[in-house]
Amino acid sequence: MSEVTAIRGMSDILPAETSRWQFLERTVAAVLAAYGYGEIRLPVVEKTALFKRSIGEVTDIVEKEMYTFDDRNGDSMTLRPEGTAGCVRAAIQQGILNTPRRLWYTGPMFRYERPQKGRQRQFHQTGVEAFGVATPDMDAELIVLCARLWRRLGLTDCVELQINSIGNAEARKAYRYALIDYLQAHSKALDADSQRRLHSNPLRILDSKSPETQAILDGGPALKDFLDEEASADFARLCELLEAAGVAYVVNRRLVRGLDYYNKTVFEWVTDRLGAQGTVCAGGRYDGLVKQLGGKSTPAVGFAMGMERLVLLLAEQAGVPEATADADVYVVAVGDDAELMALVSTERVREENPQLRIMQHVGGGSFKSQMKKADRSGARVALIWGDDEVAAHAVTIKSLRDGNGERLEQNTVPLTELDSTLCALLAP
Ligand code: ATP
Ligand code: MG
Repeated sequence: MSEVTAIRGMSDILPAETSRWQFLERTVAAVLAAYGYGEIRLPVVEKTALFKRSIGEVTDIVEKEMYTFDDRNGDSMTLRPEGTAGCVRAAIQQGILNTPRRLWYTGPMFRYERPQKGRQRQFHQTGVEAFGVATPDMDAELIVLCARLWRRLGLTDCVELQINSIGNAEARKAYRYALIDYLQAHSKALDADSQRRLHSNPLRILDSKSPETQAILDGGPALKDFLDEEASADFARLCELLEAAGVAYVVNRRLVRGLDYYNKTVFEWVTDRLGAQGTVCAGGRYDGLVKQLGGKSTPAVGFAMGMERLVLLLAEQAGVPEATADADVYVVAVGDDAELMALVSTERVREENPQLRIMQHVGGGSFKSQMKKADRSGARVALIWGDDEVAAHAVTIKSLRDGNGERLEQNTVPLTELDSTLCALLAP
């Protein structure tokens, strides 16, 4: 029979890699807690209309990347391609927008993209959203929080912060006309993607990767000159706050985001170590979205980080926990009575020492074959039960390896001394 394989772009994360994921997730959770953010858990599937209304009809995500299907009732559903829309939907529906509200979430997102390193169809984001504050101190907090996270992860030297202001909707509208006007005269020289976007989503042309397109943009209108006073002042204040906090940044006037809901501050943390998939974290302000989704007008700002890309960066870092053996102790038992005694006494050891990782041999077999498994398990100590041990109410403890990989002595101790002997042997 032919084998059923996973869907392209949706990977299995094996135990050897999960230690890195857990380190990342633990560190993220600790840093967010240190800033007073509360975790919210959201559905993976939402009504399709939610994403169309928030992300925007003519964005790449909505036009060609969503996993959309009709459920059995004929209603259109979509696997979430990002988390902000669902978070805003939940915050409105649950009525939790009335104070400065700091939330975060983590989990899988789905986009039908061309899979490559750092780009998958099922990938994971941790998103952070702050509702109810219109002033740039909120933007600064989010960015400073990211900077602390990179420090804790040892990634500070691999990432660069880019920031920009894209102003309010009016400014962007005026700029859009000026940009289309200018680019129309050069449209033949633009790259294919940019030609396609000229009328649907011209601001996206600003972050075109084509050097020819970038050279044409050099001679065109600048979004910065269209910003209203408030957006410019807020951006200046954000820069001032970042400088005070010692967070280095680069102003990238061509930075725009691929989702329609952003205004004013946008930012990205980028790395040069992952090829084309260089953005590890991206976000910005979205003051209009809550109202657009039916809530009371509420300013907001947030970001999402790409966990796969961060794990790839961590893989190159020293000091990140490597995959370790699954157990500290392996329990060998030969014979029916020994198996029974082993089960009972191991449960007692687990009760008294919840931090110990103990793997009980299962499935029987000779002493020799069980010891082979014990060696392969990576455990440092074997507990051995046989007829002699059962009769003597004792257990044999054998060190499986010392620092040089050499085998150490074994000795038999009364059951009453098992805990203390184990602890002494396994003390770091
Ligand atoms: P990109 O330009 O790389 O496609 P994006 O602008 O579509 O990114 P966002 O929607 O802002 O990305 O998502 C935030 C972050 O999530 C990205 O910066 C990236 O780290 C990560 N991310 C986005 N799409 C993917 C994907 N398909 N696979 C892995 N990570 C992703
Ligand atoms: Mg994308």
